Amino acid sequence: MAAGETLLTSARLAGIHIPALCSDPRVKPLGACRMCLVQVEGERRPVAACSTMVREGMKVETHTPEIERFRKGFLELLAGGYPAEALCEMPEKPFHKLLAEYGVACSQGITASIDDRHPYIHIDMSRCILCGRCVRICEEVQGQFVWSAWGRGDAIELRAGLVGSLLESSCTSCGTCVNSCPTGALDDKRVIALGTPTKWTRSVCPYCGTGCEIDVGTRNSTLIQVKPVLHAAVNKGHLCSKGRYAFEYLHAPDRVLHPMIRRHGRWENVSWNEAIAAAAHALHKTIAAHGPDSVGVLGSARSTNEEAYLAQKFARVVVGTNNVDCCARVCHAPSAAALKAMLGTGAATNCFDDIERARTILLWGCNPTENHPVVGARIKAAALRDTNLIVVDPRKTELAELADIHLQIRPGTDIPVLLAIAATIVEERLFNPDFVDQSIENWEAFRDFVGQWRAESVAPICGVEPEVLRAAGRMYAQAGPAMSFHGLGLTEHVQGTEGVMCLVNLALLTGNLGRPGSGINPLRGQNNVQGAAVMGCDPGALTGSTPLMSAIARFQTEWDCELPIRTGFDVLQMMDAARQKRLKVLWVIGYDVLLTNPDMALTRNAFSNLEDVIVQDMFLNETARDHGTIFLPACSSFEKDGTFMNAERRVQRVRAALYPAGESKPDWNIICNVAYAMGGGKHFAFASPEDVWNEIRAVWPAVAGISYSRLDEQCLQWPCTSESHGGTAILFGSGWTAGKKFHLYCPDSQVATEQPDREFPFILITGRTLQQFNAGTMTGRTLHRVLRPIDSLDVSPCDAESLGIHDAEHVSVRSHYGEITLPARITSTVPAGVVFATFHDPESRLNLVTGSGRDRTTNTPEYKLTAVALQKQVYCASEILCEEELFSTTH
Ligand code: SF4
Repeated sequence: MAAGETLLTSARLAGIHIPALCSDPRVKPLGACRMCLVQVEGERRPVAACSTMVREGMKVETHTPEIERFRKGFLELLAGGYPAEALCEMPEKPFHKLLAEYGVACSQGITASIDDRHPYIHIDMSRCILCGRCVRICEEVQGQFVWSAWGRGDAIELRAGLVGSLLESSCTSCGTCVNSCPTGALDDKRVIALGTPTKWTRSVCPYCGTGCEIDVGTRNSTLIQVKPVLHAAVNKGHLCSKGRYAFEYLHAPDRVLHPMIRRHGRWENVSWNEAIAAAAHALHKTIAAHGPDSVGVLGSARSTNEEAYLAQKFARVVVGTNNVDCCARVCHAPSAAALKAMLGTGAATNCFDDIERARTILLWGCNPTENHPVVGARIKAAALRDTNLIVVDPRKTELAELADIHLQIRPGTDIPVLLAIAATIVEERLFNPDFVDQSIENWEAFRDFVGQWRAESVAPICGVEPEVLRAAGRMYAQAGPAMSFHGLGLTEHVQGTEGVMCLVNLALLTGNLGRPGSGINPLRGQNNVQGAAVMGCDPGALTGSTPLMSAIARFQTEWDCELPIRTGFDVLQMMDAARQKRLKVLWVIGYDVLLTNPDMALTRNAFSNLEDVIVQDMFLNETARDHGTIFLPACSSFEKDGTFMNAERRVQRVRAALYPAGESKPDWNIICNVAYAMGGGKHFAFASPEDVWNEIRAVWPAVAGISYSRLDEQCLQWPCTSESHGGTAILFGSGWTAGKKFHLYCPDSQVATEQPDREFPFILITGRTLQQFNAGTMTGRTLHRVLRPIDSLDVSPCDAESLGIHDAEHVSVRSHYGEITLPARITSTVPAGVVFATFHDPESRLNLVTGSGRDRTTNTPEYKLTAVALQKQVYCASEILCEEELFSTTH
């Protein structure tokens, strides 16, 4: 037995079974059920193994006759009134197994107390034994406090929320209480309906960049259940509702399972040979007529690293163009560019485990409890303990409510605020003097520069009191280690890259780099967006984010061919080129460009100029529906092998739990087939994803040490340069500053950005919510529709009052670019003059109104700031009879 562990954990590690009912390794031990009592030599009474720590020389008896009698007696008490049929229905439940083990029979069943209103969770409180695991796991892991005990004595019962309905409570539907429940009082409806899984496969969640590990349960070619991996590096036995439940899209009736070609305006099913030949022909013919740069390829942040690598290799080697990009362009390209420019590596510097090591966490323009929920829950738990929390966000997010300091800045004022914080750190001498002396090459220039941005000067710009700005600077600089996370609220602006560079300034000034609990950490949006970009789906960089010009000679040798030299078009430039009829064919892999790019009218115009649009996806998404000419049906991540890379540079194995449905194929296989059809087969002679990964290891030294066989044992964070290297949790670790000089960034000007005016007096911010994901392609085909059915427009109570808008009333949102209608949600999470909307529902077409502003370094669109006008819609008998101009011109 190991010191530092509880007796229960140590016994389990040693293969000794001690029964326990109220214990779950994810929560603090309670020692309430007494099933785990053991006799320790020298102790007068038995002790609870779950709450007793191992000591040197301890002698423990786990199954004395007296203890076993006690356990049986306790089980008999619990079995009184427990429904007997539960044991037959769910013999695998831990409580039922214990009853069987101790030969305890149940009395006949009592009336079931069922709540079936939640779309995923079945509740039958006649099976509750009051172990309290649901209560504690909801509080300690999810930080949500949904479950509580009501009543007294024999009448005590557990209820969800105030009215006893899980669906109407504050439950986030993460399912962790269900996962912990030992009896089946809480259970997954799908398991009840379809039976328990017969096979389990370990893989990775297909949604956000957190990268939670999952166990995928299948039965008869159907995905039945997804469970969190208890000791996973990232999620440690936790998932959010999307990872846990939003997988039914896999079996959706409208999933496309045959290759198709659009002929005379109609989609026709064709054979794979025909579809591949058509794609190859479209590409060949265009290259011959207009040159390779008339073709574009968009890799997918949903596909594996191996597939993203092949997509960019295909563009460069087979087509002969650098016109290859992915959706990192529209989210965190500014983070990668800023971190690369200032620190040399364009990725997160630290790991999620540092959340528990930081004394201060700074969240800038991100909303992790909604968008990276497992990370959000860890940050929330840290804040509920004693970690300082600073949130910078125009909206009052859940974590902003909990924060010690919330800088509720005006949208688009991030750079002045970052400079004001830096100015406070400089003026009040809160910087790290040794580091500044030895490692900053432009200290005097920077000191003079930020002197112009004192908190008192910035306060009128950003709308936050100078003392609050200064307090944020003091907390970040003085209560270290301080760790920052940032999101698209910082990057999706016309100076997004410069915003991240100013955030790096703060870390450099205060020495919050290269040590546990510190660093700069972009929260990447999609499961493999970090991987797709770093694999080379980038018009200016090859695999490993190596700039084109510096790496081209090496890659020509590695790939044994000539490579194009001219920097390619990014996705926004591809749209521009299509409008100018310079781009003729686009191959889009797992990416609904039409629905997600800004200024949809302009995007549509670009697509309508293309001669061929090859779409590779699971569904006929909006891009395919409106503009596709060839459709190649891809399979899901549950149906293929490969790797994903999460937001903290962690490479994890994706494993097939099911065979590809219908005729769908993995992306890697489709790309190789098209390459063969175009005569490039010798560069694509891969038999498996592992083959592809081994080539990636050969061309990118930072992952050379990450083999599939090592990944079967543990996930690894790059750099990991050899098979004996343990991976790198924290970049720029010990001695990282030795001999290095860093340049603090002084933005040369503030670029004019779209501002509200008399005609468009409100600022629209767009983003995601907890229960849906991006364009809704996946979550929109699941019962998450019940949890969050529609997009809505968040309007502040004071704007709603002045406009006469009530909850759920329809409001027209009009900008310079277009107009849509959304139902209003009156909420104080947005300040006056600012509205917020999601873009999950294809019907909403939110991007009809978002604007044309682009980050001046990376072209990332400015989704976080569009000037709009609001107009209440008045409906009568399904018709708009009258419209009342209601927007105020005072904002
Ligand atoms: Fe999946 Fe992200 Fe939720 Fe984890 S936090 S389960 S990776 S969506």
